[in-house]
Formats: sequence, structure tokens, C-alpha cells
Amino acid sequence: MPEYKFYTKHHLEVALRMIGEAAYVEISPLTIRAWCTHEPVPFEDRCTGEPRALSLGDTWGDLFDCAWFRFTGEIPAEAAGEHVVLLLNVNGELCVFDDAGVPVRGLTPVASNYDYSLGTPGKRVLEITNSAQGSEPIDVWADAGYNDLFGNVSGDGTVKQAAVAVCRDEVRALYYDFEVLLDFLKALPEDSARYHQVLTGLTDVTHVLYEGLPGVATKARAILKPLLDQRGGDPSLQISAVGHAHMDLAWLWPIRETIRKGARTFSTAIELSDRYPDYVFGASQPQYFQWMKDHYPELYKKIKAKVQEGRLEPQGAMWVEADTNVSGGEALVRQVLLGKRFFKEEFGVDIDYLWLPDVFGYSAALPQILSKAGVTTFSTQKLSWSLINTFPHHSFKWQGIDGTQVLTHMLPEETYNSPAAPRSVRRIEQNYRDKGISHHSLMVYGIGDGGGGPGAEHLERLIRIKNLAGLSPVKQESAADFFKKWRKEADRFPTWVGELYLERHEGTLTTEARNKWYNRKMELGLRGLEWRAVIAGVVAGTAYPQDRLTDIWREVLLYQFHDILPGSSIKRVYDESVARYATMYDEVGALSSAREAAIAELVDTQGLVSPAVVHNDLSWARSEWVRVSENWIFAEVPSMGYATVDAGAPTPEVAELTASSARLENDCLAVSFAGDGSIVSVLDKRLGRELIPEGESANRLVVFVDPGDAWDFPMDYAEQTPRTMVLVSSEARIDGPLAILKQTYRLGTSELVQEIVLASGSSRLDFVTKLHWRETASMLRTQFPVAVHAEEATYEIQFGHLHRPTHRNTTWDLARDEVVAHKWADLSQRDFGVALLNDSKYGHKIKGNVIDLNLLRSAPYPGANREVNNTFPAGEPHLGYTDQSDHVFTYAFYPHAGDAVEGGVIEEAYALNVPLSVTPVILHAGVAPKSMSWLQLDTPNVVIEAVKQAEDGDDVIVRLYEATGASVDATLSLNFPVVAVSEADLMENVVEDLDVADVAVRLSFTPFEIKTLRLKLGA
Ligand SMILES: [Zn+2]
Repeated sequence: MPEYKFYTKHHLEVALRMIGEAAYVEISPLTIRAWCTHEPVPFEDRCTGEPRALSLGDTWGDLFDCAWFRFTGEIPAEAAGEHVVLLLNVNGELCVFDDAGVPVRGLTPVASNYDYSLGTPGKRVLEITNSAQGSEPIDVWADAGYNDLFGNVSGDGTVKQAAVAVCRDEVRALYYDFEVLLDFLKALPEDSARYHQVLTGLTDVTHVLYEGLPGVATKARAILKPLLDQRGGDPSLQISAVGHAHMDLAWLWPIRETIRKGARTFSTAIELSDRYPDYVFGASQPQYFQWMKDHYPELYKKIKAKVQEGRLEPQGAMWVEADTNVSGGEALVRQVLLGKRFFKEEFGVDIDYLWLPDVFGYSAALPQILSKAGVTTFSTQKLSWSLINTFPHHSFKWQGIDGTQVLTHMLPEETYNSPAAPRSVRRIEQNYRDKGISHHSLMVYGIGDGGGGPGAEHLERLIRIKNLAGLSPVKQESAADFFKKWRKEADRFPTWVGELYLERHEGTLTTEARNKWYNRKMELGLRGLEWRAVIAGVVAGTAYPQDRLTDIWREVLLYQFHDILPGSSIKRVYDESVARYATMYDEVGALSSAREAAIAELVDTQGLVSPAVVHNDLSWARSEWVRVSENWIFAEVPSMGYATVDAGAPTPEVAELTASSARLENDCLAVSFAGDGSIVSVLDKRLGRELIPEGESANRLVVFVDPGDAWDFPMDYAEQTPRTMVLVSSEARIDGPLAILKQTYRLGTSELVQEIVLASGSSRLDFVTKLHWRETASMLRTQFPVAVHAEEATYEIQFGHLHRPTHRNTTWDLARDEVVAHKWADLSQRDFGVALLNDSKYGHKIKGNVIDLNLLRSAPYPGANREVNNTFPAGEPHLGYTDQSDHVFTYAFYPHAGDAVEGGVIEEAYALNVPLSVTPVILHAGVAPKSMSWLQLDTPNVVIEAVKQAEDGDDVIVRLYEATGASVDATLSLNFPVVAVSEADLMENVVEDLDVADVAVRLSFTPFEIKTLRLKLGA
């Protein structure tokens, strides 16, 4: 008889569906009532919304509306002895609460938009009793959000199901037996005996099914049992499986919905772990736990208990899963410092691995930051998203700019939403590029991005595939337990040097410019405040605002989440975060000013006419122009200190300045402008060099059509001929030591006003920009072709810099077209070069001899439909697009001798970002001298990046780093009462005590080394 099984294989999917449909039988409808609101209300206020009686087919709100649902009914008498559940699907996310108002289970719409190849996201089954008595009343409350897992309303948005049902346990078990074996077929070689025997078994079951379910379920399971009982997977590769619900703290939904998603996700994880004894669920991000603690304290107690049991794993070392492209160096330190401290304080666990599965590229500064915070291991999967090159490793040593290595595991399955099916196991084995030297891999399973997490289906599959003959064995355990085993194999792991660049999402270096501006200003504002708060505490006894600083830092760190700072969230997220940023910015400014004033109050200003105290927060002496009242003063201020100036003194002589619409000139530069406003010549008088190549023009403000989205613009965008902003007016003036040309450009209803400023004695040409932007689907860039020849350009990152090619020799070079830089990027040949500095921009490109900065992108918001609302009045913002607002930013053109380091680019970029700060004072006696430096270094290579109070007391923390890539010895002079100095790690734990001689400590730095000192203050 010919073989027919292959021809009838497609019936197996039909049979599976048939079994699935027979697993639950509705026996009684429920009465549905809802109290609807626009914003969430707590359990106690659940009846305060607009009351509504709902039936199947009814709709109950608009996107992100809220409601408390009450489902009432009765278990019918004939269900006595049965396993009874409720089936609930209101086309929104539900969190079921118990009578005491504690979340007990999350349910999610069955129709969520999702990649169904990873499994079905819906959860609709609420357990009631394994054996009903019959006639029990049902009365269930649930907090609902009118959105699916991914911030949409799926399907027609109507209530789909609300019923008491019987779960036929044997049919349900048959369903998973059958499903796992059917999926197993996809993993098995078609010519294997195992494949054919499984196919035979499944086909035999379909024959039995003709006799009808549920009666034949036991008989059918008996057919499959021997196939599932064949145990003994091949131990060459062992897979550790941990449950997960990747939670974007904001993305296609606002932050407030994330908090509710947390209650749904954690309560589901806890409920399932009560039913499945092997289940281990992991969750990262202390911020997310903090929300549970604040909003759902009883649920949080249960979370704590599960952590103690080892069933719920706090994961990752950062406060949130942060972007690491744009976040500053000290901010990354705080992510780890506050993140690890939270898990330690709350759960007593010391996290030694970083968990960033979804971040858009990884800074080469991270290995050192991690290692110095006791984090030896890193895990992600995101580089599998790269568009051009395939990353060659899954288990490797990742080496950062300073040479520090951390062990890295890139999930071979290339997803953190694994269905935990046989095909997942097979995919891991097939994909794992380092399987020749590693016997261990991690599987991260569940429904994620919008939370949810594993459902019963994942856990039923894992029971069946645990040690199934024909697959690698799978063990449910924590990520930490996996890493322990996997690290033992690390000796032979290959090494990858430098950044982990994601060849995708380059638009996120620019999108949502105001958020990026505020992020930079907050990072630096907090730097200034912490430093002044320490000093004001020492010299004036002003209290250190520790609690406020912690809260503000936590909120700044929250907005560095990998869908907020990169610009990939919906509009509401930015409306809310920009408003919060503005408030925090003002508060930090006010706290800072109060401390400046407290310091200035102590200064003896007698004998001056109109005194002011000028503060310098940078760790080197500065000589710069400052405006005091209406006067210009050339202030010379020592490192990390202040100087007193007299605005009543005559303005010093200024070398001759020229300012006209065609020319700006001082003693360093002569800059010539064309009629269209662009720069056609920059003559550096000190270098004796023309910096703009003959026939080319610089600061060309070009606008490209950008049909991309928040994440991406087309790789070939530069092939088009861009539009150019049109110069409409040009106005020159001399203001004291400044030669200024004010240019106004227009394009459509957008306007860009730029003050191009050249200060006497300075080679830095600043472009102080105000932009009113109304273009859509477009990208504004500025371009500086320069007369420099170099095959590599240099870009500042956190705690150092790195080099990237200026050519496209290989596909790896080609892919890195738009790259991140922080305060500066530089193109230098051996004898001189040009840097482009900025105060809030990140998207850079230096190819050939053109330095190119991405200033703004106006892309459709995620989730926005470009076709909707396309008729809007001219000049009004199109609310479907990002960055339709007013912006301010500054960038600067800075030519110099030598390379970036020799040319002082690092100092100049800091100076642009951290201006001297002036406090006018009245004449008074004082105990403090007219000029003071509290911290001083004897080498320009080392930068003090942070001074703060210790998290655990009143010691002072000083963080420094070697900024040039050299080995240097440095002496740090401490001009305040210090009784002991220790070197500490980034967690502020003492590593070793240092000798303090003559109020100074000797320090030895390796290239780009970060050092943390812990100072004990005395009387
Ligand atoms: Zn994410």
C-alpha cells in the first residue's frame, strides 16, 4: 500500500484546531457591567466611572480609555465536579482583582496585533475551580484598558466573550501533546525514523478523532504517549529556558498604561508559577518593580515572596533597559548604580549581568562601566536585526575602548519572545554560531514588548519538550543560573573589539530633538547641581538634596528607556515627558542657583564696584568672556572653583573684530559667506590654512525628503538632490568681544534663525540656532566639507572616544553610515583638523572630507496614520509627525592644530556644554577668598565627570576618567577638608585606601580608564 501520510499532513493542522476548540465548553453566559473613565481609577473608586451594561458585540470606549468591569453569574448545577473557568475577552487588556483589591491575573485580547509565528498573544482563561460544586455564584472585578498589547484597538473593538465554561482537561492535554509533536515535525529531519514515527502517531490520532471528542481524548493521548515518552535529548547543547515579558516602559502606549501592564504581567506570572512548579519568570528594570511597590503594594509582597522562592528572577543591572547611544556616561553609571542598589536593597540579590535585549546598539564604553560595577556579563539579541552584516558570534568576549572585556551572550534564537516550541529548540541549535566551543544557550520565552509574558501554552510545551529524544534538552531556570554554567566555557570565546553597532534605527539618534536636548541639559544640570551641592555643603553647610536628586535622576533615567530617548514612542509619551523635563530643568536650575548664591555669599567682595562670582564646573582653568550686567568681562576662573570679577572695571581691549553679512573676522579666523548664507571660506590665521576646499561651501542647511519612520530613514537618502533653506535676511553686529552674524532662513512655513558667533581670541565659530519647524517627512542636516584628508574620523562617546572609517571599503564600513557622537566629532590629519561640536545633537556622518550633522527629523509618529489628518492649515503643526515644534540648539565649527586631543577639542566641547555661570553679588565682607579651586588636576588628560554625595552616607564621590587614550599619572589636589581617600568601584564600595599627601592624591590611569574616589570629609 502506498504511503499516504505525507499527502494528508495538512490535515494535522485542522485536527489540532478541532481539538483546541473542544477543550473548553461554554455553559453559562455572564452579566457584564462596566464603569468607564478616560484615565485609570483605583480599585476603591471602581464604581465612580460612567456605569454601563454591556452585551457581547458592544464597544465600550476609545483607545486608552479605562473601565472597571464586573462579571456576574453562576456556575450551573450540572457542572458539579467539573473543572470550571471563565472565558473573558473584552477586546482590551484586563487585570482581574480579588475581593481585597489585589491583582490576581492578567488577560489580554486574543486578537492583538502580533507576530503570530512566535505564538498567540491572547489570554482569555480565568481559573475558577478544579472541581465545582455547582450553583456557586460568580462575581469578578477586572480593571480594563481599551487597548491591545501593542497600543491599538484590534479587530472591531467589541466585547467578544464572557462566559462560564468547563475545561475538559483530557482534551486540553491532548491539544498540547498533539501541538508539540506537530511542531516537532518541523524540527526533525524528514528522513529520520523519529520524523516518520511522529507523523504516523499524529495521523493515527486523526483517525481516532472521527469517533468524536471528548470521548476519544484518552485513547488519542495513549497513541501519542510513547512518542512523548522517548526521552533523552542530545546533551551536546543544553538550553536554559526563562520566562519573560519584554516590557517597553512606554512605546505605543503612555507610561501610565505600562504601570497597569505591570500588574497584569506580574499577577499572571505569579498565578502560573503556582500551577507550574518548574516555571521561572524573569523581569528586568527596577523602575518597573518600583511602580508595583508604589501602586500595587499587596501584589509587590507576592512578587517579593516569589523572588525569595527563586521563582521570579530580578534581571539586568540598569534602572531601565536604557538606550546606550545617546545616554551620557555618568547617566549609564547611574543606571547601574541605582538599578543594582534597588535589587540589592529590595531582594538581597547582587545582579552580575546586564540585560538589554532590545536596545538599538551598544556603546563601547559599556564593558568598563559594567565591569567596574561588578557586572561581568551582558546579554542581548538586538544585533540580529542588523540589515547588512551578520554578527559572527553568539557567545563572545566584548571589549570596550579601554580594553575591558565582558562576557556576552547574544540569544541564538534571536528573539526574547520565544514560543518555547520544538522549533525554537531546533533554531537555537542551528543558529548558535559558537556551538563548537559552548554547550549552553539561553532561551527567553513568552509574549513581550507590551508585557503579557508566558501563558499556560508555553509551560505546557516546556513540560513536553524538557528532555524529548531528538531535541537538545531544555531546563527551566533563571538567567543567572544559566550564566553560571555558561561562563565556565568562556576561555575559548572569541573577542569582539569596539562598539556593537546596530545596522538599523539610525534615525533614533535624531528623532524627538527636544527630548534629546532636555536629556543632555538634565545630565549636565545634575552634574552641576551635585557638584555645587557638595561644595555648598562643605563651605556653607547647605543641606545636600539627596532625596530630590535621587527622584530626579530616576526620572531622567526612566526617559532614557530605549523607546523614549530614541524617539520611537507615540506623541503622548513626548507631550508628557517634555512637560516633566521642563519642570525638572527649572527645579535643578533653582537648586543649583541657590547653592551658587550660598557660595558667593561667603566671598569677600569689598573694594569692588560691581562684583560677580563666576563659577567653573570643569576640571581645568578657563579664560572666557562672560557678560555681567551689561558689561563684558574676560574671566579667568580656576578648575572646579570660582573667581570674583568686577563688572565695574573697564572692558579690556578687544583685538579688532569684523562683522558684516559677508564676513566675520577676529584674531584667529576670517570667515566668508556667500550670498545664500553658506560659508565659502574659513581662513585659520594661526594655522595659516584655508579650511574650506576651493569651490565648496559649508554650513549648507539642506532638507532631504525622509519617507522613513521614527526609527529609520532610507540608506540611500543622500542620492537625492536636497532642498536648501533659503536665506531671507542677514544682519551683522559687534557686541563687545563678539562678532555676530544673524541669518534668517525659510522653507515653507518653517524658519531657522542662526546667530553665527565669533568671540575675540577664540577659534570656535558657534551656530546658535532657533528653529520653528513645520516640514513633514523630512530631515534637516548641516554639512561642512573641509580641507582635511583622513581615513578615520574620531567621535566622542561616553568616557572617551573612538575612531570610525571615513570610507565604505567593506560592508561593515558601509553599514556604519550614520553614527553616534556625543559633544564632538572630529576629522583630523596629522598636522591639523576640524571638529564639529554640539550641545544636543547625536546623529553624525563623516564620509570623505564632509562632516555632516543631522539636526532634525520629522517622521510619522509610531502608530500614526500618515493618510489621516493630512489636511491641516498651512503653518499649523501636523500632529502625526515628530518635531513639529520650536527648537533651540547650538553647534560649533572648531579648527585646531594637531589631532582632536592635541587640538583641545575635548575641553572646547565641554566648555560649549558647560558655560561659566555668573552670580552677581553685593559688596560684603566674607570668609572666602576672591578666587578658589577646590579640585585641581596637574594633567589635561583627565576629566572630573562627577562629584556627588555617596548613596549610603555623607562621603563624597569623585569620578574621573582619562579622556585622551593615554597612560598618565595625575595628581588630584583637594582643597577642602578631606581626612581619607579611597579608590572605589562604581557601586561606591571601597576597593583600596590611597595615600593623601599634602591634600593631594597620586593616581595612575590607563587609556580611557574611569576611576572613582571616595572621600571622607573631616572637620
Ligand atoms: Zn523594547
